Amino acid sequence: MQIDTVSLSHTTTGTARSLTVYRFGDTNKRPQLYVQSSLHADEVPGMLVAVHLCNRLEALERDGKVRGHVVVVPCANPIGLSQSIQGAAFGRFALADGTNFNRHFADLTQGAAARVLGRLTKDAEQNIALVREALGQELMATRSTTELASLKRALLELSFDSDYVLDLHCDGESVSHVYTATSLAAQCKPLAALLGAEALLTAEVSGDNPFDEAISRPWAELARMFPDHPIPQASFSATIELRGETDVSDALAARDARAIIDFAVLNGVIDGAPPEIPEAKCAATPLAGVLPIVTPRAGVVVFAKTPGDRVNVGDEVARIVDPLTRESISLKSDIAGVMYARLRLRYVTAGQRIAKIAGANAVRSGKLLSP
Ligand SMILES: [Zn+2]
Repeated sequence: MQIDTVSLSHTTTGTARSLTVYRFGDTNKRPQLYVQSSLHADEVPGMLVAVHLCNRLEALERDGKVRGHVVVVPCANPIGLSQSIQGAAFGRFALADGTNFNRHFADLTQGAAARVLGRLTKDAEQNIALVREALGQELMATRSTTELASLKRALLELSFDSDYVLDLHCDGESVSHVYTATSLAAQCKPLAALLGAEALLTAEVSGDNPFDEAISRPWAELARMFPDHPIPQASFSATIELRGETDVSDALAARDARAIIDFAVLNGVIDGAPPEIPEAKCAATPLAGVLPIVTPRAGVVVFAKTPGDRVNVGDEVARIVDPLTRESISLKSDIAGVMYARLRLRYVTAGQRIAKIAGANAVRSGKLLSP
Protein backbone atom coordinates (compact mmCIF):
# COMPACT_ATOMS: atom_id res chain seq x y z
CA MET A 1 0.00 0.00 0.00
CA GLN A 2 1.25 3.41 -0.92
CA ILE A 3 -0.25 6.69 0.30
CA ASP A 4 0.41 9.75 -1.86
CA THR A 5 -0.42 13.39 -1.36
CA VAL A 6 -1.39 15.52 -4.34
CA SER A 7 -1.17 19.24 -3.66
CA LEU A 8 -3.72 21.58 -5.18
CA SER A 9 -2.73 25.03 -6.37
CA HIS A 10 -3.95 27.70 -3.97
CA THR A 11 -6.19 30.58 -4.93
CA THR A 12 -5.54 32.68 -1.84
CA THR A 13 -2.34 33.38 0.03
CA GLY A 14 -1.52 31.23 3.04
CA THR A 15 -3.81 28.29 2.27
CA ALA A 16 -2.93 24.79 1.12
CA ARG A 17 -5.18 21.83 0.31
CA SER A 18 -4.38 18.39 -0.97
CA LEU A 19 -5.81 15.03 -1.99
CA THR A 20 -4.81 11.84 -0.19
CA VAL A 21 -4.44 8.93 -2.60
CA TYR A 22 -4.26 5.26 -1.60
CA ARG A 23 -2.63 2.89 -4.09
CA PHE A 24 -2.70 -0.92 -4.02
CA GLY A 25 -0.74 -3.26 -6.26
CA ASP A 26 1.90 -2.37 -8.85
CA THR A 27 1.29 1.08 -10.36
CA ASN A 28 2.26 -0.20 -13.81
CA LYS A 29 -0.09 -3.17 -13.82
CA ARG A 30 -3.54 -3.46 -15.35
CA PRO A 31 -6.48 -3.61 -15.13
CA GLN A 32 -6.56 -0.39 -13.14
CA LEU A 33 -9.53 0.49 -10.94
CA TYR A 34 -10.02 4.04 -9.67
CA VAL A 35 -12.53 4.82 -6.90
CA GLN A 36 -13.20 8.29 -5.54
CA SER A 37 -15.69 9.46 -2.96
CA SER A 38 -17.50 12.64 -2.02
CA LEU A 39 -16.86 14.87 -5.02
CA HIS A 40 -19.96 16.57 -3.64
CA ALA A 41 -18.14 17.07 -0.40
CA ASP A 42 -20.92 16.55 2.14
CA GLU A 43 -22.10 13.29 0.52
CA VAL A 44 -20.50 11.24 3.23
CA PRO A 45 -21.49 7.52 2.84
CA GLY A 46 -18.72 6.93 0.28
CA MET A 47 -16.03 8.09 2.70
CA LEU A 48 -16.83 5.20 5.04
CA VAL A 49 -17.07 2.84 2.06
CA ALA A 50 -13.56 4.02 1.08
CA VAL A 51 -12.27 3.19 4.58
CA HIS A 52 -13.74 -0.33 4.41
CA LEU A 53 -12.47 -0.70 0.85
CA CYS A 54 -8.91 0.34 1.76
CA ASN A 55 -8.90 -2.05 4.75
CA ARG A 56 -9.99 -4.93 2.49
CA LEU A 57 -7.51 -3.97 -0.23
CA GLU A 58 -4.65 -3.76 2.26
CA ALA A 59 -5.38 -7.36 3.35
CA LEU A 60 -5.80 -8.54 -0.26
CA GLU A 61 -2.50 -6.94 -1.22
CA ARG A 62 -0.77 -8.66 1.72
CA ASP A 63 -2.13 -11.97 0.39
CA GLY A 64 -0.81 -11.19 -3.11
CA LYS A 65 -4.31 -10.97 -4.58
CA VAL A 66 -4.12 -7.54 -6.20
CA ARG A 67 -3.36 -8.47 -9.80
CA GLY A 68 -3.86 -5.02 -11.31
CA HIS A 69 -3.71 -1.63 -9.65
CA VAL A 70 -6.32 0.05 -7.44
CA VAL A 71 -6.42 3.76 -6.62
CA VAL A 72 -8.74 5.11 -3.90
CA VAL A 73 -9.34 8.80 -3.19
CA PRO A 74 -11.50 8.83 -0.01
CA CYS A 75 -12.19 12.60 -0.01
CA ALA A 76 -12.22 13.93 -3.54
CA ASN A 77 -13.19 17.47 -2.62
CA PRO A 78 -11.27 19.19 0.20
CA ILE A 79 -12.49 22.57 -1.06
CA GLY A 80 -16.14 21.64 -0.61
CA LEU A 81 -15.45 20.03 2.76
CA SER A 82 -14.24 23.39 4.05
CA GLN A 83 -17.42 25.16 2.91
CA SER A 84 -19.32 24.82 6.15
CA ILE A 85 -21.49 27.88 6.65
CA GLN A 86 -22.20 28.39 10.33
CA GLY A 87 -22.55 24.67 10.84
CA ALA A 88 -24.43 23.85 7.62
CA ALA A 89 -22.43 21.80 5.12
CA PHE A 90 -22.40 23.27 1.61
CA GLY A 91 -20.55 20.74 -0.52
CA ARG A 92 -22.41 20.58 -3.84
CA PHE A 93 -21.54 23.98 -5.33
CA ALA A 94 -18.30 25.94 -5.20
CA LEU A 95 -18.82 29.14 -3.24
CA ALA A 96 -16.12 30.75 -5.39
CA ASP A 97 -18.16 30.70 -8.61
CA GLY A 98 -21.44 28.92 -7.89
CA THR A 99 -20.68 25.92 -10.10
CA ASN A 100 -21.58 22.34 -9.25
CA PHE A 101 -18.40 20.50 -8.24
CA ASN A 102 -19.39 17.60 -10.53
CA ARG A 103 -19.81 19.57 -13.75
CA HIS A 104 -17.55 21.14 -16.35
CA PHE A 105 -14.70 18.65 -16.22
CA ALA A 106 -12.38 19.05 -19.20
CA ASP A 107 -13.67 17.48 -22.41
CA LEU A 108 -10.49 16.03 -23.91
CA THR A 109 -12.15 14.58 -27.02
CA GLN A 110 -11.41 17.20 -29.70
CA GLY A 111 -7.84 17.78 -28.60
CA ALA A 112 -7.13 14.06 -28.41
CA ALA A 113 -8.70 13.58 -31.87
CA ALA A 114 -6.27 16.12 -33.32
CA ARG A 115 -3.36 14.35 -31.65
CA VAL A 116 -4.24 10.85 -32.99
CA LEU A 117 -5.22 12.01 -36.48
CA GLY A 118 -3.20 10.04 -39.07
CA ARG A 119 -1.56 7.89 -36.37
CA LEU A 120 -4.27 5.30 -35.67
CA THR A 121 -3.69 1.76 -36.88
CA LYS A 122 -5.80 -1.35 -37.46
CA ASP A 123 -4.56 -2.71 -34.12
CA ALA A 124 -7.01 -2.04 -31.27
CA GLU A 125 -4.40 -2.39 -28.49
CA GLN A 126 -2.03 0.03 -30.23
CA ASN A 127 -4.90 2.48 -30.64
CA ILE A 128 -5.76 2.25 -26.93
CA ALA A 129 -2.18 3.16 -26.05
CA LEU A 130 -2.19 5.99 -28.58
CA VAL A 131 -5.48 7.43 -27.34
CA ARG A 132 -4.39 7.18 -23.68
CA GLU A 133 -1.20 9.06 -24.53
CA ALA A 134 -3.18 11.71 -26.45
CA LEU A 135 -5.69 12.14 -23.60
CA GLY A 136 -2.81 12.52 -21.13
CA GLN A 137 -1.05 15.11 -23.28
CA GLU A 138 -4.31 17.00 -23.76
CA LEU A 139 -4.94 16.97 -20.02
CA MET A 140 -1.43 18.31 -19.33
CA ALA A 141 -2.13 21.12 -21.80
CA THR A 142 -5.24 22.31 -19.92
CA ARG A 143 -4.76 25.40 -17.77
CA SER A 144 -5.76 25.44 -14.13
CA THR A 145 -5.21 28.80 -12.52
CA THR A 146 -7.69 28.39 -9.66
CA GLU A 147 -7.71 25.87 -6.84
CA LEU A 148 -11.06 24.55 -8.14
CA ALA A 149 -9.66 24.00 -11.63
CA SER A 150 -6.57 22.33 -10.17
CA LEU A 151 -8.82 19.97 -8.18
CA LYS A 152 -10.73 18.91 -11.28
CA ARG A 153 -7.53 18.46 -13.24
CA ALA A 154 -5.90 16.46 -10.42
CA LEU A 155 -8.89 14.09 -10.24
CA LEU A 156 -8.75 13.52 -14.00
CA GLU A 157 -4.97 13.03 -13.91
CA LEU A 158 -5.41 10.31 -11.29
CA SER A 159 -8.14 8.52 -13.24
CA PHE A 160 -8.26 9.23 -16.98
CA ASP A 161 -6.19 6.18 -17.99
CA SER A 162 -7.96 3.72 -15.66
CA ASP A 163 -9.84 0.75 -17.04
CA TYR A 164 -12.61 1.16 -14.45
CA VAL A 165 -13.64 4.37 -12.69
CA LEU A 166 -16.24 4.55 -9.91
CA ASP A 167 -17.43 7.89 -8.51
CA LEU A 168 -19.20 7.51 -5.14
CA HIS A 169 -21.99 9.96 -4.35
CA CYS A 170 -25.32 9.89 -2.48
CA ASP A 171 -28.71 11.54 -2.80
CA GLY A 172 -30.89 13.28 -0.19
CA GLU A 173 -33.00 10.29 0.90
CA SER A 174 -32.62 7.49 -1.54
CA VAL A 175 -32.18 3.86 -2.47
CA SER A 176 -28.94 2.82 -4.21
CA HIS A 177 -28.82 3.82 -7.87
CA VAL A 178 -26.20 4.07 -10.58
CA TYR A 179 -25.57 6.37 -13.55
CA THR A 180 -23.54 5.31 -16.58
CA ALA A 181 -23.26 5.80 -20.35
CA THR A 182 -25.90 4.08 -22.47
CA SER A 183 -23.16 2.19 -24.29
CA LEU A 184 -21.81 0.92 -20.94
CA ALA A 185 -25.18 -0.29 -19.59
CA ALA A 186 -24.52 -4.00 -20.22
CA GLN A 187 -21.08 -3.78 -18.56
CA CYS A 188 -22.64 -1.90 -15.64
CA LYS A 189 -25.44 -4.40 -14.93
CA PRO A 190 -23.36 -6.76 -12.72
CA LEU A 191 -22.09 -3.76 -10.74
CA ALA A 192 -25.65 -2.46 -10.24
CA ALA A 193 -26.80 -5.93 -9.17
CA LEU A 194 -23.88 -6.33 -6.72
CA LEU A 195 -24.75 -2.96 -5.18
CA GLY A 196 -28.44 -3.83 -4.98
CA ALA A 197 -29.21 -0.76 -7.12
CA GLU A 198 -32.90 -0.04 -7.68
CA ALA A 199 -32.32 2.21 -10.70
CA LEU A 200 -29.66 2.07 -13.41
CA LEU A 201 -29.89 5.33 -15.33
CA THR A 202 -28.17 5.72 -18.66
CA ALA A 203 -27.40 8.64 -20.97
CA GLU A 204 -24.84 9.19 -23.71
CA VAL A 205 -24.67 12.90 -22.88
CA SER A 206 -26.27 14.10 -19.65
CA GLY A 207 -25.05 17.71 -19.92
CA ASP A 208 -22.21 19.91 -18.59
CA ASN A 209 -19.66 17.08 -18.58
CA PRO A 210 -19.76 15.46 -15.13
CA PHE A 211 -16.68 13.53 -13.96
CA ASP A 212 -17.81 10.07 -15.09
CA GLU A 213 -18.57 11.26 -18.61
CA ALA A 214 -15.25 13.11 -18.85
CA ILE A 215 -13.63 9.68 -18.37
CA SER A 216 -15.69 7.46 -20.65
CA ARG A 217 -17.17 9.68 -23.36
CA PRO A 218 -13.94 10.52 -25.28
CA TRP A 219 -13.57 6.82 -26.12
CA ALA A 220 -17.09 6.54 -27.52
CA GLU A 221 -16.74 9.77 -29.47
CA LEU A 222 -13.30 8.95 -30.89
CA ALA A 223 -14.61 5.55 -32.01
CA ARG A 224 -17.41 7.39 -33.86
CA MET A 225 -14.99 9.96 -35.34
CA PHE A 226 -12.58 7.30 -36.66
CA PRO A 227 -14.84 4.45 -37.83
CA ASP A 228 -12.10 2.87 -39.99
CA HIS A 229 -9.88 2.22 -36.97
CA PRO A 230 -10.77 0.01 -34.02
CA ILE A 231 -11.00 2.11 -30.82
CA PRO A 232 -12.44 0.00 -28.00
CA GLN A 233 -14.16 1.57 -24.99
CA ALA A 234 -11.05 1.31 -22.81
CA SER A 235 -12.41 3.24 -19.81
CA PHE A 236 -15.59 2.18 -18.04
CA SER A 237 -17.05 4.72 -15.65
CA ALA A 238 -20.11 4.93 -13.43
CA THR A 239 -21.49 7.23 -10.76
CA ILE A 240 -22.77 5.29 -7.77
CA GLU A 241 -25.36 6.93 -5.52
CA LEU A 242 -25.00 5.20 -2.15
CA ARG A 243 -28.52 5.73 -0.79
CA GLY A 244 -29.22 8.89 1.27
CA GLU A 245 -27.02 11.41 3.06
CA THR A 246 -27.55 9.89 6.50
CA ASP A 247 -27.37 6.24 5.44
CA VAL A 248 -23.96 5.88 7.06
CA SER A 249 -23.19 2.69 8.98
CA ASP A 250 -20.41 0.14 9.10
CA ALA A 251 -22.84 -2.55 7.96
CA LEU A 252 -23.84 -0.63 4.80
CA ALA A 253 -20.28 0.51 4.09
CA ALA A 254 -18.93 -3.03 4.45
CA ARG A 255 -21.62 -4.30 2.07
CA ASP A 256 -20.87 -1.62 -0.55
CA ALA A 257 -17.10 -2.16 -0.25
CA ARG A 258 -17.69 -5.89 -0.79
CA ALA A 259 -19.70 -5.09 -3.94
CA ILE A 260 -16.82 -2.99 -5.29
CA ILE A 261 -14.29 -5.74 -4.46
CA ASP A 262 -16.55 -8.27 -6.23
CA PHE A 263 -16.70 -5.95 -9.25
CA ALA A 264 -12.87 -5.79 -9.17
CA VAL A 265 -12.64 -9.60 -9.03
CA LEU A 266 -15.15 -9.91 -11.86
CA ASN A 267 -12.97 -7.68 -14.03
CA GLY A 268 -9.61 -9.25 -13.18
CA VAL A 269 -8.28 -6.40 -11.02
CA ILE A 270 -8.20 -8.72 -8.01
CA ASP A 271 -7.64 -12.47 -8.00
CA GLY A 272 -10.41 -14.63 -6.60
CA ALA A 273 -13.28 -16.94 -7.38
CA PRO A 274 -15.88 -15.25 -9.60
CA PRO A 275 -18.47 -13.64 -7.33
CA GLU A 276 -22.08 -14.68 -7.39
CA ILE A 277 -24.07 -11.91 -9.05
CA PRO A 278 -27.43 -11.39 -7.31
CA GLU A 279 -30.58 -10.98 -9.33
CA ALA A 280 -30.87 -7.39 -10.57
CA LYS A 281 -33.47 -5.24 -8.80
CA CYS A 282 -33.95 -3.09 -11.90
CA ALA A 283 -33.44 -2.90 -15.64
CA ALA A 284 -31.39 -0.12 -17.23
CA THR A 285 -33.65 2.85 -18.01
CA PRO A 286 -32.90 6.15 -19.75
CA LEU A 287 -31.89 9.13 -17.61
CA ALA A 288 -34.21 11.02 -19.95
CA GLY A 289 -36.98 8.85 -18.45
CA VAL A 290 -36.49 10.35 -14.98
CA LEU A 291 -39.36 12.62 -13.99
CA PRO A 292 -38.51 15.14 -11.29
CA ILE A 293 -41.54 16.05 -9.17
CA VAL A 294 -41.52 19.85 -8.90
CA THR A 295 -43.59 21.73 -6.34
CA PRO A 296 -45.41 24.80 -7.66
CA ARG A 297 -45.83 26.18 -4.11
CA ALA A 298 -43.82 26.63 -0.95
CA GLY A 299 -44.78 24.77 2.18
CA VAL A 300 -44.29 21.72 4.32
CA VAL A 301 -43.76 18.56 2.30
CA VAL A 302 -45.49 15.42 3.55
CA PHE A 303 -44.34 12.48 1.48
CA ALA A 304 -46.74 9.71 0.53
CA LYS A 305 -44.01 7.59 -1.06
CA THR A 306 -40.77 6.23 0.35
CA PRO A 307 -37.60 5.74 -1.72
CA GLY A 308 -37.87 2.42 -3.54
CA ASP A 309 -41.67 2.59 -3.85
CA ARG A 310 -43.23 1.73 -7.23
CA VAL A 311 -45.42 4.53 -8.51
CA ASN A 312 -48.24 4.44 -11.05
CA VAL A 313 -49.59 7.28 -13.17
CA GLY A 314 -51.75 9.49 -10.94
CA ASP A 315 -50.31 8.23 -7.64
CA GLU A 316 -49.79 10.90 -5.01
CA VAL A 317 -46.08 11.34 -4.28
CA ALA A 318 -46.44 14.10 -1.70
CA ARG A 319 -48.67 16.82 -0.31
CA ILE A 320 -47.46 20.38 0.08
CA VAL A 321 -49.11 22.00 3.08
CA ASP A 322 -49.34 25.79 3.39
CA PRO A 323 -48.96 26.40 7.14
CA LEU A 324 -50.65 29.84 6.91
CA THR A 325 -53.84 28.88 5.03
CA ARG A 326 -53.82 25.23 6.18
CA GLU A 327 -54.60 24.27 2.55
CA SER A 328 -52.63 21.59 0.81
CA ILE A 329 -52.00 20.49 -2.75
CA SER A 330 -51.32 16.99 -3.93
CA LEU A 331 -48.35 16.29 -6.20
CA LYS A 332 -48.96 13.28 -8.41
CA SER A 333 -46.76 11.35 -10.79
CA ASP A 334 -47.36 11.62 -14.54
CA ILE A 335 -45.39 8.44 -15.17
CA ALA A 336 -45.05 4.91 -13.83
CA GLY A 337 -41.73 3.90 -12.34
CA VAL A 338 -39.72 3.71 -9.15
CA MET A 339 -39.40 6.73 -6.85
CA TYR A 340 -35.72 6.27 -6.11
CA ALA A 341 -34.85 9.55 -4.37
CA ARG A 342 -36.48 12.39 -2.48
CA LEU A 343 -35.48 15.57 -0.72
CA ARG A 344 -34.07 15.32 2.80
CA LEU A 345 -35.55 18.62 4.04
CA ARG A 346 -39.25 19.04 4.77
CA TYR A 347 -39.80 22.72 3.98
CA VAL A 348 -39.76 23.41 0.25
CA THR A 349 -39.84 26.50 -1.90
CA ALA A 350 -41.84 26.99 -5.10
CA GLY A 351 -40.10 25.44 -8.10
CA GLN A 352 -38.05 22.99 -6.04
CA ARG A 353 -37.57 19.37 -7.12
CA ILE A 354 -38.78 17.20 -4.27
CA ALA A 355 -38.51 13.66 -5.68
CA LYS A 356 -37.32 11.72 -8.70
CA ILE A 357 -39.08 8.87 -10.46
CA ALA A 358 -37.32 6.59 -12.94
CA GLY A 359 -39.60 5.55 -15.76
CA ALA A 360 -38.91 3.24 -18.68
CA ASN A 361 -39.42 5.78 -21.46
CA ALA A 362 -37.74 9.10 -22.25
CA VAL A 363 -39.82 12.10 -21.15
CA ARG A 364 -37.11 14.79 -21.12
CA SER A 365 -34.29 16.16 -23.26
CA GLY A 366 -31.49 18.69 -22.84
CA LYS A 367 -29.58 18.79 -19.57
CA LEU A 368 -30.64 15.67 -17.69
CA LEU A 369 -28.93 15.94 -14.29
CA SER A 370 -30.14 17.81 -11.21
CA PRO A 371 -28.66 21.32 -10.97
ZN1 LIG B 1 -23.30 13.94 -5.72
